[in-house]
Amino acid sequence: MWQAEVRVDLDAIRDNMAVLRDGTTAEVMAVVKADAYGHGMLPVARAVLESGASWLGVCTLDEALTLRRAGISAPVLAWLLAPGLPLHEGIAAGIDLGVGSLDQLGEMIGAARTAGRPARVHLKIDTGLSRGGATPADWPALVEAAAKAEANGWIEAVGVWSHFVYADAPGHETIDRQLDVFREGVATAERLGVDAPYKHIANSAATLTRPDTHFDLVRPGIAIYGLSPSPRTGTGGLGEGERYGLRPAMTARARVALTKRVPAGQGVSYGHTYHTERETTLAVVPLGYADGVPRHASNSGPVELGGKIRRIAGRVCMDQVVLDCGDDQVAPGDVATLFGSGANGEPTADDWAEAAGTINYEIVTRFGGVRVPRHYD
Ligand code: PLP
Repeated sequence: MWQAEVRVDLDAIRDNMAVLRDGTTAEVMAVVKADAYGHGMLPVARAVLESGASWLGVCTLDEALTLRRAGISAPVLAWLLAPGLPLHEGIAAGIDLGVGSLDQLGEMIGAARTAGRPARVHLKIDTGLSRGGATPADWPALVEAAAKAEANGWIEAVGVWSHFVYADAPGHETIDRQLDVFREGVATAERLGVDAPYKHIANSAATLTRPDTHFDLVRPGIAIYGLSPSPRTGTGGLGEGERYGLRPAMTARARVALTKRVPAGQGVSYGHTYHTERETTLAVVPLGYADGVPRHASNSGPVELGGKIRRIAGRVCMDQVVLDCGDDQVAPGDVATLFGSGANGEPTADDWAEAAGTINYEIVTRFGGVRVPRHYD
């Protein structure tokens, strides 16, 4: 018996991966960082490798090593590496590593010496995001040094890559500008002796809508989980994942802990930011901000209970939220669904993103926390 649970539909993840795979001639790197956006890195990694992904993408060295320790031998790229990490362990485990500066290249060479084998690296050019990667001005020096390190046997240049500024607006003018910088960066690398087989820049939005960005490898994340990269409202205009044949994989739900009748005018939850309009039944649902419910969704987050969508009454607490159910028949043990695929009329992660003023990425990632058990279908 569960009190609250996150369910992950691995069939949905497999089907979503097949949609992405069928939409490109490039190889697919499934982005499974941050515990697969809250869905569970290892089960998701296995599911996507069964259904069309040939690479896995993660942020940290630790995430990559966790994949290897679980026996996953597919190519893995880890791309955000602070100084001083045991990179030699990554090299020994055959993990591909992101390099975006001369300092990082130097560390990689040192780690390759320790590991006694060349580091497989993906050289990153910053095409406009101003996050990781060498600026176009610093790029020639980086690739020149990388070409030397490759000639000396310390690295193997596997990839040249970058990342888009807009994950949610594939028609944005910056995409074309970044693509121009990227193509130039690739040409410079080739001219200076780095001929990496994998060029990659496409996130979910570009994978779904811009085949001209696919190059040799695409790196979708959010679409694997059945969600659209762009907010439903706003400038992106991608609409919901359903439009692309994607199905949200995560459901978050809990059993009502108790119900009670209260009179009209009763203040509810911390600070009494909600008052009942009439005599009503309150239902206490045991999921709170410790479990991933955003406190910003106080008095707004939608929850399906007894076939109706209800808004959270009052503040989201650490462990629970309260619903105002009027005269409806609700009882302890009834299942309240915060979000799911939407197929049965329940709210979706997009509804929650709207209610909390955030993006669906953050909603699902938050629910991958430690307290609520995650079950797989
Ligand atoms: N590539 C990199 C470097 C990323 O950081 C991410 C996610 O943030 C992705 C790809 C996947 O992006 P999305 O989830 O928008 O597909």
